[in-house]
Amino acid sequence: MPELPEVEVVRQSLDKNIKQKKVNKVIIRNRNLRFKIPLGFANYLKNKKIIKVDRFSKYLILMLSNKSYCLLHLGMSGTVHLVDKNKKNTKTNTSFYSSPILPKKHNHVEIILQDLKIVYNDPRRFGFFQIIENSLSLKKRFAHLGPEPFDAKFSLNYISSLFNKKKRSIKNLLLDQNFVSGIGNIYASEILFLCKINPNKKVYLLKKKDHLNIIVNSKNVLLNAIKKGGSSIRDFKNASGKKGDFQREFKVYEREGLNCKIHKCKGIIKRKVISNRSTFFCNTCQK
Ligand SMILES: [Zn+2]
Repeated sequence: MPELPEVEVVRQSLDKNIKQKKVNKVIIRNRNLRFKIPLGFANYLKNKKIIKVDRFSKYLILMLSNKSYCLLHLGMSGTVHLVDKNKKNTKTNTSFYSSPILPKKHNHVEIILQDLKIVYNDPRRFGFFQIIENSLSLKKRFAHLGPEPFDAKFSLNYISSLFNKKKRSIKNLLLDQNFVSGIGNIYASEILFLCKINPNKKVYLLKKKDHLNIIVNSKNVLLNAIKKGGSSIRDFKNASGKKGDFQREFKVYEREGLNCKIHKCKGIIKRKVISNRSTFFCNTCQK
C-alpha cells in the first residue's frame, strides 16, 4: 500500500508531466471503484485544464481550470501510468508497477490529454476518484484528518495536550490519521526506532523529550523517504519508472532477527503484531 512518501513521489512525477494540459476525453471502463464514479464524471473533466497536481496526506489533488478539484486516492493497489500517444501500449513511464509495460487488465479509467494519457489501474479497486466543487468543500473533505508531520500544527503543544490522557500504545496512535496524517505502518516503525521508544509504550508515559523526538523524526523520516524516491516494496516505481531507494535505509522494518544498526547496541530486531499490523523494533535500545 503506498504511504505518504510514495504518493508524493507520484505527485511530483504527475505534476511534471500533466500540469497545464487540457483533458480531451475521459474513458471509464469500470465505475465500481471504492466509491462508484458518477455518470457525469467524464463530461465534467472534458475540456478542463489540469492546472497542477497537489497532495494532502495520501490524496492526490488535481487542480482544475474552473477552480474545482479532482481527488485521486490510490487505495491498496492503485497505480497511475502515463502513456505517450505515439508509443501506445508499449511503455508506461509511471508509478509503482512491477512491469514497465502497461498492464493488460484492470485499467479502469483513461484521462486523455493532448500528447499523452493517464491510465488508472487498480486490481483491488480500493482507490477512487472524486470531484470537489471548490476550495471550501476541499477543506471540509479533509477536516477529519490530522495535520501532516510537516505542518506547523504538528507542534509540541498539539502533541502534549493529546498525549497526556491517552492509554493507547504510541504505535497505534501514530497510525491514527485523525491524530497525524500520512504516517503508515513502515514509517511508524522507523520513526519510533529513531526516537528509541518501544512501540508498545503507552502514550501517557512518554516524556517531553519523547514528544520532541517524535516531531523531529516524523518529519525527517518522511522527507528522507521522499528524497530517496519512496520505498520500493512490492515494486513501487515513480513516474519515470525508477525504483525508490529508501528500503535500503530501513533500520527496523522487515529486519526481524537481524542486528540493531545502532553502533555498539547488541540488540536484535523483533517483530510484534500491534493493532493487527507487524511492528519492528530493537529489543534493547527502544524503551
Ligand atoms: Zn538497538
